[in-house]
This record gives sequence, C-alpha cells and structure tokens, in this order.
Amino acid sequence: MKISPPRNWRLKETLYSIVLGKCEKCGSILYPYQQLCSSCGSTNIKKIVSRGHGKLIEYTISYQSREGYEKALPMAVGLIELDEGVRILAPLTDTDNIKEGAEVEAVLRRITADSNNGLIQYGIKFRVIDNARDN
Ligand SMILES: [Zn+2]
Repeated sequence: MKISPPRNWRLKETLYSIVLGKCEKCGSILYPYQQLCSSCGSTNIKKIVSRGHGKLIEYTISYQSREGYEKALPMAVGLIELDEGVRILAPLTDTDNIKEGAEVEAVLRRITADSNNGLIQYGIKFRVIDNARDN
C-alpha cells in the first residue's frame, strides 16, 4: 500500500475528523458535508465537526479486503448513528465486547503502513466505550 503524503495533507480534514454539514435554513444534518441541502435545496450550509460519539446500530466482520489492507483482517465495520442524527459506516476497533446498541466513540488508529518508505496512515475508527473504561 503506497501512502501519498500530499494526498493525506489535502484530505486531512476528512481523514482525522468527521465533517458534517448543517443546513442553516431547515436544520438538516448532511453527511458527507455538501454545499447543497438535500432536504430543502438551500446552499446556506455550515460546516460542523461531529463529536465522534454515537450508537452502534449494526456491525459485520469482513474476512476480505482491498489490496494493501490484508493485515487488518478480520475487519469489523459498523453502522453508527452519531449524536448529530446521521448514520455513517465506519471501521471498528477493540472489538472484544462489541455488541449492537452499544455506545461508541471515535478514536484515531493506525490504518495501514507503507513498507517502501515507513509512513503510517492513521484514520478514524470507532470503539465501544465500555471497553475504553476497562483499559
Ligand atoms: Zn435544508
């Protein structure tokens, strides 16, 4: 897996935080952030950053990945309802006590490493909060 520092720099806002849009006209929360409200058509959209806290609705464990991510297998992916009211798909970590309905929080975790140049790519994963209290 080749990591491109310029690409990561360009994407830093979305790699390391969850950016949402809030329509200033109707109050809809938009994910991913976009400049046009899909509910009312307004272009008055404010950029907000999610608290990174929510509830795990469902999850699945994958034993296949795209090229370069094989070391991360098996990989858990969850459907998470953020406190802001939108549902997102996100990778899960620390999955020992994982269960549907659990309270989850976003944490920064290693995603992959580039064996050619030693660069490590970090990104957001979610973990069950009960696990965090045990550690
Ligand atoms: Zn709107």
